[in-house]
Amino acid sequence: MEELDRWAITKLNALIEKVESAYYDYEFHVVSHAINDFCVVELSSFYLDIIKDRLYCEQRDSLKRRSAQTALYLILDSMTKMFAPILAFTCDEIWAAMPHRDSDDGRNVVLNCMNKPFAEYALSDEALARWDALISVRDDVNGVLEAARGSKRIGKSLEAAVTLHVGKDAKEQVDSISGMNLAELFIVSKCLITEDEELPAEAVTGQGVKNPGLSVAVVEAPGTKCPRCWMHSEQADPETGLCPRCAAVVAKL
Ligand SMILES: [Zn+2]
Repeated sequence: MEELDRWAITKLNALIEKVESAYYDYEFHVVSHAINDFCVVELSSFYLDIIKDRLYCEQRDSLKRRSAQTALYLILDSMTKMFAPILAFTCDEIWAAMPHRDSDDGRNVVLNCMNKPFAEYALSDEALARWDALISVRDDVNGVLEAARGSKRIGKSLEAAVTLHVGKDAKEQVDSISGMNLAELFIVSKCLITEDEELPAEAVTGQGVKNPGLSVAVVEAPGTKCPRCWMHSEQADPETGLCPRCAAVVAKL
């Protein structure tokens, strides 16, 4: 599976453990708060935002898309079972509508055991620390994207090209995430890393940056907008306007 999807499962594992121990202690408010936090923080404002592109635009049965679908299935299956004692009718309705394993009892969600953590997908502590660094840099990038939107320099974040200007104090942190697909994770069309600390005059910069030694510059992404995925591309197909990724996917449809 893609590492981001394994990150989501690792966070789900922590939720499963927390919820199980809270139920044993009859602390039902802890259960509902933990599930709500997971939905808002991990899923809504980070994970789901990023995987939308893979789900909508990658080839139907590609590993990238199946990997995200697998993570979503495990999350839905686990959350429906975990929340059923509190949100009984809603969870039963979800259960009646979703696909199941052969070993599940499809009649009603409460006839099934809650899931145990999916240890085989869990990331190491070292990998998790890398994702923490990514999320911290992403917060800074989002702050500058917001400023660029505010000054009408860009509309959607996919219209942006981001450059991370990395000083001495931020080097270790940015090095640890430099192998990741940063454009995908920041939901922008392009992301570059440079050690040049001089910021381009034409860019929207700075504001919102909390990581010492890091500056973020945002300009409008070069190239043309792909009509299918809305990402800007400099190698669009002259006839259809599709980016290389979408052109390859559409050719196989
Ligand atoms: Zn495209």
